[in-house]
Amino acid sequence: MKTLIFKNNDAMPILGLGTWKSSPGEVYEAVREAIKIGYRHIDCAAIYGNEKEIGSALADAIRSGEVERDQLWITSKLWNNAHGKDRVLPALEQTLKDLRLDYLDLYLVHWPVALKASVVFPGKGEDFVGLDELPIAETWQGMEASVQKGLSKHIGVSNFSTKKLYELAAASDLPPEMNQIELHPFLQQKRMLAYCAEHSVHLTAYCPLGSGDRPAALKNDNEKSLLENATVLTVARQHNCSAAQVLICWAIERGTAVIPKSVNPTRLAENFKSFELSLSTEEMEILSELDAHARYVNGEFWTVPGSPYTLENLWD
Ligand code: NAP
Repeated sequence: MKTLIFKNNDAMPILGLGTWKSSPGEVYEAVREAIKIGYRHIDCAAIYGNEKEIGSALADAIRSGEVERDQLWITSKLWNNAHGKDRVLPALEQTLKDLRLDYLDLYLVHWPVALKASVVFPGKGEDFVGLDELPIAETWQGMEASVQKGLSKHIGVSNFSTKKLYELAAASDLPPEMNQIELHPFLQQKRMLAYCAEHSVHLTAYCPLGSGDRPAALKNDNEKSLLENATVLTVARQHNCSAAQVLICWAIERGTAVIPKSVNPTRLAENFKSFELSLSTEEMEILSELDAHARYVNGEFWTVPGSPYTLENLWD
């Protein structure tokens, strides 16, 4: 499988397993099955509420000799209520304990949004802390400390605009090596791709299949389906493959990592085989015409009345 090479030559498998919404009770089997199929990159986050169960699956897979720790690439993310220089390490230590690991391969700041320590999801303006009061650069010092202590090999961000990436790189000793963002044919973010290529930042594509299992509260009216899109289906027919495989291959062809989520053994195997496909220049061009600058995860939940965050200052 292709890899993304980091500055110290560490290699991240370009195709990984997403775990948001993979509930305790199903994520253990999903991770065990994924490792048997050949997945070596797992995308986790403290807020997904399933790191303990993923930790059991990783420990059992390693104990049974199916895989060694250094063959796995494990990413996790700092939740918004643990921003701040001195709050990062305790949050990371909890994640490592839950995942039963000594180190992460990659630790990301989940959102450029800070919440008060006691708040998990915000309901009102007072639940937030503005970035003027608690700048990302301060939180980043805690992220850098996690590398210095050997608790994470690499650090990065998620849901960052090019402006925020630029400002953070300018203010840091260890610039972010990854930005994990929503990317698929309806949201191609070509300016972001160009910026990251120029500044040696890798990208990971989330919601590559359109995130159809998101809670209803996070869905928009008349949302268009990627998996049922006529152009995607036409390309799939040309390759005798599924729409999901075209979407995953599209991300890989663009040089981004991609982390489709599944808890279904058949779909886990189907998604994994996508890395064997390749799309022609003409196919990439017709898929490129689908760009609608349309987000499935638009961040509106950070913009409740009284919040210092708006869609404008979130995405810049
Ligand atoms: P996604 O991967 O685009 O879609 C997941 C949905 O597609 C599930 O309903 C899954 O169902 C279904 N599916 C999987 N394989 C399929 C196939 N071959 N054919 C048809 N349907 C298929 O959505 P996502 O989970 O939102 O995004 C992927 C991962 O990105 C997340 O799990 C998470 O790790 C990460 N993420 C990060 C952020 C962030 O803020 N950094 C935000 C969103 C997501 P089954 O499970 O039943 O197969």
